[in-house]
Amino acid sequence: MKLFGIKDSDLCDFCKTEIETISHLFWECTVTKDFLKVFSHLAEKCNIQIPDRMSSIIFGILPIMRNIPVNNFLLILKYYIFRKSHQAKELYFEEFKVYLENYQNIEESYLSTENWIKKWVPLLDFWT
Ligand SMILES: [Zn+2]
Repeated sequence: MKLFGIKDSDLCDFCKTEIETISHLFWECTVTKDFLKVFSHLAEKCNIQIPDRMSSIIFGILPIMRNIPVNNFLLILKYYIFRKSHQAKELYFEEFKVYLENYQNIEESYLSTENWIKKWVPLLDFWT
């Protein structure tokens, strides 16, 4: 972010101790790690295994068509983390659930029923 002139400092906005890189923001940062632990635990309720490898968190799981719910989850998760980092705000799991639910509702209005079911039904237990 500093490189692009978006921020004055290149330190992570969450921990404020390490240089913010993609791998730090989405995997190495202690704040993100703690959030991912809670997230992974709740995802297990949906029988979704959140990968425990940095490359899978950053790039998603292959083959992509078999892992639409997980990759969908990961994309929304990373966007939430990025936004909160950019706003220099904390990560809140309850807020993330609302954020995820908003995505679900928006996509319900424009995805075909078949594609919406494929993408969201495995995640519905996440809110209960
Ligand atoms: Zn950090």
